[in-house]
Amino acid sequence: MSLVVMKFGGTSVEDPAAINRTASIVAGRVAAGKQTVVVVSAMAKVTDQLLRAAAAAAKGDRTGALAISSRLRARHRDTACALIKTPANASALCNLIEQKFDSLDEILRGLAAILELTPRISDLVVSYGERLSSRIIAAAFAERSINGTHVDAREVIVTDSQFGKAAPLDVLIEKRATEHLRPLLEQGKVPVMGGFIASNETGITTTLGRGGSDFTAALLGGALAADAIEIWTDVDGIMTSDPRVCPDALRVKVISFEEAAELAYFGAKVLHPATILPAVRKNIPVLVLNSKNPSNEGTRIISIAPHCSSPFKSIAVKKKLSIIDVVASRMLMTHGYLKAIFDIFDKHQCPVDMVSTSEVSVSLTVDSNDKLPLIAADLSQLADVKYEGKKALICLVGEDIRGQSGMAAQVFGAIKHVNVRMISQGASEINMSFMIEEDDADEAVRSLHAAFFGNPDPTIFDTEARKAAVSS
Ligand code: ADP
Ligand code: ASP
Ligand code: MG
Repeated sequence: MSLVVMKFGGTSVEDPAAINRTASIVAGRVAAGKQTVVVVSAMAKVTDQLLRAAAAAAKGDRTGALAISSRLRARHRDTACALIKTPANASALCNLIEQKFDSLDEILRGLAAILELTPRISDLVVSYGERLSSRIIAAAFAERSINGTHVDAREVIVTDSQFGKAAPLDVLIEKRATEHLRPLLEQGKVPVMGGFIASNETGITTTLGRGGSDFTAALLGGALAADAIEIWTDVDGIMTSDPRVCPDALRVKVISFEEAAELAYFGAKVLHPATILPAVRKNIPVLVLNSKNPSNEGTRIISIAPHCSSPFKSIAVKKKLSIIDVVASRMLMTHGYLKAIFDIFDKHQCPVDMVSTSEVSVSLTVDSNDKLPLIAADLSQLADVKYEGKKALICLVGEDIRGQSGMAAQVFGAIKHVNVRMISQGASEINMSFMIEEDDADEAVRSLHAAFFGNPDPTIFDTEARKAAVSS
């Protein structure tokens, strides 16, 4: 019997109507005879609000923090009431919601008293989003004759203790998934679990990093050797660029694992960057689908993408970056110099996105973060350091850039008016990336999109929507 892991993001579970749509999509898979595991995000925006409540409490704003919690309590309670009509089930679920908010409020009061928020407590606070949504959705499924059963993801997804962005422990996850989920699936049940949340080996709550529910789905898919992993979201699939930036973006029908991973890493929020790995290892296809338009075939991510006549599949943008220029004053490119620089980034656990070197200087790009002054202070022991924020990375991805000549001229020709700060090509043969000012980013994406997707290959891109818009 085939097994599918279905993940529904925040907008797919944002309110009773969205949860009803999600329930019908799941019911469809179950009716088709598939063993189904469901992974859900917190309801839309809840994660941000929980983080805001924790930050407010830790700054001493107890009233503000509790007010956020109280609004969240009402939203979850109203959603549960709208979905669950059987009185006994409704009251059991509402009691559970009240208990969870009571314990959340206790944590927030504690934070307001001690005025300190550690990554460990932040993970605990933020975990309430998925713990609540998964309970409500499991109950809603049970009411809609889907044999849904709630499973606490923290009992299955085991990680190390890097709170805020913990790394999964694959062997343990496989063991736990086999123990906890297989028997349920064999009984015809549909396990419903929160994404993003996990626990370390001693049972302390951790999280997989923002957007991590996709990763949960992929980890489960890998652990259970699923036949497919479905990522249900609010757009028709992976598009040729973020449709919020470029309204005429087209759906990419099929894309390779490698291309999708590059896009995700370089900012295409539609997929969490780590999602692809467990799927690649076991060669499990990943589908990105729209819960508001479930009949659309979405994007299929497979190991080898078919040939495409356009060089690129999609353009990603990553904003809120900083460029750090390290200019050697004393120690010109000697042996060990780059290592010394990278050791400093490593010490501050700050990942570097792009690097460019010359005889005397090294430029690096990183996510803008509050450790930059400390990093700069350490780097200034080696060289002169400057850093500047509000930068954006534009990344064009496609397997078919391989071996094409004149690509750089075409790319930069399309954005002649934009000042380019750093360029990288070759790190992977399938992407071209460059840094520009954040304020120029959206316009640059639109210009590049017009230049490269004006005449799209219909075997790879969904051109029907564009044709329909032109003829109407
Ligand atoms: P979810 O809550 O379902 O996980 P996300 O908000 O994380 O959804 O991701 C979906 C969003 O990703 C879309 O609404 C879209 O604005 C954005 N996005 C960015 N780049 C792309 C792209 N290339 N294709 C599709 N969506 C993209
Ligand atoms: N709720 C988490 C977030 O907003 C995880 C996810 O939705 O993937 O980051
Ligand atoms: Mg997401």
